[in-house]
Amino acid sequence: MDATAQPLVFRPPRGGAEPWARLRRAIVGELHTDAASRGRYATDASIYQVQPLGVLVPAGDDDVRAAMAICAEAGMPILPRGGGSSQCGQTVGAALVIDHSKNLGRILELDVERRTVTVEPGIVLDALNARLAKDGLWFPVDVSTSAQATLGGMAGNNSCGSRSLAYGNMVHNVVAIEARLADGTEARFGPERDMRAEAPRVRDLLEALRAIGARERDEIARNVPKTMRRVGGYNADVFNPQSERPYTADGSVNFAHLLVGSEGTLAWTRALTLALSPLPRHRALGVVNFRSMREAMSSAQPLVTLHPSAVELVDRTMIELARANPAFRPVIERALIGEPEAILLVEFIGDDAATPLRQLDDLAALLGDIGLPDRLVRLPDAAAQKALWDVRKAGLNIMMSLRGDGKPVSFIEDCAVPLAHLADYVDRLTEIFRRHGTRGTWYAHASVGTLHVRPILDMRRDGAAKMRAIAEEASALVREYKGAFSGEHGDGLVRSEWVAWQFGQRLTRAFEEIKDLFDPAGVMNPGKIVRATRMDDATLFRYPPTHRTLAVDTALDWSAWDVRSDPATGALSSPGSGGDPAHGFAKAAEMCNNNGHCRKFDAGTMCPSYRVTRDEIHVTRGRANTLRLALSGAFGDDPAHPAVREALELCVSCKGCRRECPTGVDMARMKIEFQYQWQRRHGVAFADRLVATLPRWAPYASRVAPLVNLRNRIPMLARWVERPTGIAAARTVPSFRLQPFAGDAQAQAADADVVLLVDTFSRYFEPENVHAALAVLRAAGYRVAIAMPQAGDPVSRPLCCGRTYLAHGLVDEARREALRVVQALAPHVARGAAIVGLEPSCLLSLRDEFLALHLGADAERLAARALLIEEFLARERAAGRCALPLRALAERRALVHGHCHQKAFDAAGVVVTVLRWIPGLDVAPIESSCCGMAGAFGYATSHFDVSRRMAEASLLPAVRAAGRDTLVVADGTSCRHQIADFTRTTGSREALHAIRVLARALDETAPRTPAPAQSTQA
Ligand SMILES: Cc1cc2nc3c(=O)[nH]c(=O)nc-3n(C[C@H](O)[C@H](O)[C@H](O)COP(=O)(O)OP(=O)(O)OC[C@H]3O[C@@H](n4cnc5c(N)ncnc54)[C@H](O)[C@@H]3O)c2cc1C
Ligand code: SF4
Ligand code: SF4
Repeated sequence: MDATAQPLVFRPPRGGAEPWARLRRAIVGELHTDAASRGRYATDASIYQVQPLGVLVPAGDDDVRAAMAICAEAGMPILPRGGGSSQCGQTVGAALVIDHSKNLGRILELDVERRTVTVEPGIVLDALNARLAKDGLWFPVDVSTSAQATLGGMAGNNSCGSRSLAYGNMVHNVVAIEARLADGTEARFGPERDMRAEAPRVRDLLEALRAIGARERDEIARNVPKTMRRVGGYNADVFNPQSERPYTADGSVNFAHLLVGSEGTLAWTRALTLALSPLPRHRALGVVNFRSMREAMSSAQPLVTLHPSAVELVDRTMIELARANPAFRPVIERALIGEPEAILLVEFIGDDAATPLRQLDDLAALLGDIGLPDRLVRLPDAAAQKALWDVRKAGLNIMMSLRGDGKPVSFIEDCAVPLAHLADYVDRLTEIFRRHGTRGTWYAHASVGTLHVRPILDMRRDGAAKMRAIAEEASALVREYKGAFSGEHGDGLVRSEWVAWQFGQRLTRAFEEIKDLFDPAGVMNPGKIVRATRMDDATLFRYPPTHRTLAVDTALDWSAWDVRSDPATGALSSPGSGGDPAHGFAKAAEMCNNNGHCRKFDAGTMCPSYRVTRDEIHVTRGRANTLRLALSGAFGDDPAHPAVREALELCVSCKGCRRECPTGVDMARMKIEFQYQWQRRHGVAFADRLVATLPRWAPYASRVAPLVNLRNRIPMLARWVERPTGIAAARTVPSFRLQPFAGDAQAQAADADVVLLVDTFSRYFEPENVHAALAVLRAAGYRVAIAMPQAGDPVSRPLCCGRTYLAHGLVDEARREALRVVQALAPHVARGAAIVGLEPSCLLSLRDEFLALHLGADAERLAARALLIEEFLARERAAGRCALPLRALAERRALVHGHCHQKAFDAAGVVVTVLRWIPGLDVAPIESSCCGMAGAFGYATSHFDVSRRMAEASLLPAVRAAGRDTLVVADGTSCRHQIADFTRTTGSREALHAIRVLARALDETAPRTPAPAQSTQA
């Protein structure tokens, strides 16, 4: 490895390899000590990177107990970890990382009457709340990362939600913590009165803690900020309450509260008992529009007197970002009056519908009183409220997706100041940013004086110096206003240094005593909260001064990522000017900021392989980190490292991340590039080449279709060919047709309105889909041509988009195929015809990968005119040019499974739209991620099980539950095949392309009207 590459520090514990061997023997779960696994756990959502010694993914609490005992003996540090979404570096360190998020997520006891729940630390907030909702309850610490934050991690950080004004932080909602100390002592920390009969070790500990509390009583009163949003240091104020919202109703001591916010430095949390709240039945949202940021901030204090559940800020920059997004524009514009500089989202909740609405009236009256009449937009309905909350989140995401080395950095993002000073604080901090040549976008929790702001800094160059300078100046403001330096995100590596500044030397010594009482050997997450490193210790940065990028001769065009950004204006330099030796490939991988959003299980697509494995290696973040490390030389000088190959193995290239990752990490594209790089060095496996070259041999195979299809009929044959082809014998494969789609006599190439690009799959496996498309388009009055090779094309076979080549990293071959398509369609594009396709992964590659294949301006023009057939029909109907004669079908319902690429390009909803044109047909989308087939992925023997689990996650249960009077619709060839294959033994279901359903519903008796001339605009 090059001497300048970042070292993967590996400090073996006492006893050399022996503790690892013991660990391996003692645990049932997974123990990872390889460089790539450790690299994947070396980062969180902060700017830091520290290689752990190893990673334990325990199978259960017994594994943790055993591991902690071995670590205690070996003096090996321990770092507890949940979703790893911390922003301050509290989840990185040279320790054995114990990841509780995979297997320690059970609800242990739910007491609905007493409104408490006891959970294991790994349960994710959204999962918990989904269960609690059935009993009309919720756990109300609603962090933005609710889809990935674990309760153990939330307690570790004393997390705070948007509605903390109404419900408090974690510390206000934790009843008890069952903890294990580093020496193996187990105890239930809770209200002092319940902690009478403890073992001597615990009794002594509590006694010593009480003594510190009594001794430091005055110091606590002097130095602990009174703001509710204060999460730095240890909560020594359990002994002398300081928070404006007391931790306990009667001011009594609850020892669990000392563990809350301790960032894994005191004890391992085995289980937590939480106080629950009734789920609010009704909400109303008022949006107050302000002419200046100062006006908004000055209004926060009077607004909270109305007891809202949330007051959230959205500033001008975010408003504009939302407006720039077509999907969000109508939502944000509904909330605006004129051109405000800032808006405050003021939410009220109540058990009856009238109360929050009445509070909106009070809000309007108050605004009148403070000289701001007519500034309120009322959003009483739930759908509008949700849409606006989504915009607020998305605005932040767009901000985070800034390309170039300058990034919004979190280090003063959550300072909390009393509301009376909020306006001055914002003004003065903005001025500080300006002086340091940067800027920040303001958003979030105005109600509690915790405004989020991240100045844009380039941490590879002058960012560290600027960070310290800004932090010092910001801290002076916080001190002047008697606020808290850490009001939400904790201390970690970025702010532990500031603990002494905040709490004073004396209290900091007391914190050290507390640490030593719990953890005398100092093995629990060392270097956080006490005895910390400097925030600007660049050796701990993800991009330290020694960071390098390996040169890569890339096949795809990554130049859009290879840019520099101006921190003051956000302006980007021209594509390709960023100085990336990997031509933008490395910078694209570096877009992952580890926020963990891909660890989710909601209605979206991202990330199907994580959804079924729950492994860090199989989530977008794990893949991006592995690739980033490889490209930085962390594994050696060859970026095409087997560790990356392993991490990408279960990536189904669904493009879910392309759309749903806040920073737009596009792993599907990166997989193509990586496979290309790999194959350049290692060649192409026979099985991969076989599938990739399908368009070449399909014409011949179809001529002997009955023979080829025997594989599906004779199990012995399927088993014979399993090894050479890599295709699971348990699978059927699509059957070739003896009569593939062979052109169309009526096609009029010269003056066609629509040119149909027939993909290889439709042509050879399901030609009836092409016939259906022709019938529908013609019924709508369009002149249709079939896309044919350009005259003089030396290749005689039909056009193909090159998808199968791309899927296997054969970029040169894919480019050749794509070029044929671009050249053949250029004349049609030039005369304004629409280019329409049926298979989402094929057609959408014209709008996606074609643009990365260095094909020039013709490809860009083609991309602008390429539409899936439903998109075309919907567009035409919206323009009044498409009147399709349709009649009711025998079936009354249709369930639609969207292909992942349709979802990635926002083209899934339109399938539902066009099917709803059929009279009497009730059409509903299936909330599903990837079907698991994903091109050829699911056919592979090695993927069979994962593929089945992906399908079983939601798609197959929905299909099986559908009655026989329900049509199942799926536009993807592989999705249809997956459904057929896995319902074979349980009452076979055939899914149809939407165009077949439309064709079936065509009313042949209706008079045909030719379509009006088509617009030549895309
Ligand atoms: C985009 C973004 C938005 C965010 N929004 C919010 C927000 O609205 N509010 C907020 O408060 N935070 C927010 N955060 C920070 C973070 O998401 C939260 O603090 C979250 O609760 C952390 O949960 P986690 O499971 O990821 O914990 P981790 O990051 O894995 O761990 C957090 C801490 O808890 C400790 N810990 C974990 N498990 C245990 C255990 N079993 N025993 C002892 N200690 C343990 C860890 O050592 C670490 O110090 C945000 C972060 C991002 C990236
Ligand atoms: S891949 Fe995207 S969603 Fe996942 S952690 Fe990275 S930035 Fe977040
Ligand atoms: S392309 Fe799909 S499977 Fe691959 S990382 Fe992205 S979301 Fe996950």
